[in-house]
Amino acid sequence: MFGLPSVRLGRPFGIPLEIDASWLFVFFLVAATLTTSYFPAAVPDEGPLVYTVLGLLTSIVFFGSLVLHELAHSLVARAGGLSVSRVTLFVFGGVSQLDDEPSSPGREFLMALAGPATSLVLAGLFWGASVFAAAAGGSGLLLVPLEYLAVINGSLAIFNLLPGFPLDGGRILRSILWALTGDQLKATKWASRSGQAIGTMLIAVAVFGVLGGNFDLVWLAVMGWFISSLAAGAYRQQMTRSRLADVPISTIMSTPAVLAPADLSLEEMGHTYFLAGRHTRYPVVQDGHVIGLIDVERANDVPREQWPMTTVAEVASRNLEGAVATPTVSVESVLSRLEPGGPGAVLVVEDGRLAGIVTRSDVIRFIMDIARERPLS
Ligand SMILES: [Zn+2]
Repeated sequence: MFGLPSVRLGRPFGIPLEIDASWLFVFFLVAATLTTSYFPAAVPDEGPLVYTVLGLLTSIVFFGSLVLHELAHSLVARAGGLSVSRVTLFVFGGVSQLDDEPSSPGREFLMALAGPATSLVLAGLFWGASVFAAAAGGSGLLLVPLEYLAVINGSLAIFNLLPGFPLDGGRILRSILWALTGDQLKATKWASRSGQAIGTMLIAVAVFGVLGGNFDLVWLAVMGWFISSLAAGAYRQQMTRSRLADVPISTIMSTPAVLAPADLSLEEMGHTYFLAGRHTRYPVVQDGHVIGLIDVERANDVPREQWPMTTVAEVASRNLEGAVATPTVSVESVLSRLEPGGPGAVLVVEDGRLAGIVTRSDVIRFIMDIARERPLS
């Protein structure tokens, strides 16, 4: 995130947990604030070493709570059939990266609720522990951190429940609007508008706070700006997806498909197709039938000096499964096949003959056209 390096911490429940370098900044900020001002004010007359150890331990438990919040989202998402690529801690907290969006409002609702619910449970547990410790006559060195952790987890739950996308509360709002209207795009539009409004409100509160001398609130302004821009992006992304679901692949396919004859040598293939053409992948035909796909990587696997005596048919991938589609299916339905590691191209076949070809570059060009023609309103 933000182009900074991230460190893999482990795989709790099989979900990769990463820490972004930007997170270290917040960790030390929290630890330093606790050590130098919060704890010395709340539990006076202790040595600096005591405050430092207490500050570090409390910060670690706080960030552990954040991880539990994110893991709750991820585990509920996974139970609902979504795959979770990783959980990342970064400067604004945590984020669960999903490979896909929830398929129904009910799933989105549960997934979004899981995080704040976990934070509320943690707040309750820390609060209960502090009450218990107080009754048992525990020292302030134990009570104050427990109370702090109860308050911080409670605040985390409440902040995340603000009803603006992409906050958890915004996802909850979207799922409810989605269930009521049956229209995911419209629900996203309103939830992200609400997110933009909340972002702007946070910035306004911060500005008034700073004018009144409370400089800690600058942080709130940065947060507000971040929420606001994510909200705008979320709607654009949703709109693109919904456009892709409406458009048949025949609209964006390259046609007529440029074909590579099976007996062509790799040498000629390189000069006339890869260097001169606009694609890096071509269907290979023999006797009028598509027999495979040839791409630059496969050609490069063959040593250069053998290119003149190697035919395209010899190196072409013969696995056409998943590479063929009819012209009427939507662009969205073939997206996963165009991801790296898949066939990389979709051959559009109509009545047994090749009507065109769709590659990643066709989709990217189309998405850029949508972005130009419809700015966020
Ligand atoms: Zn959350």
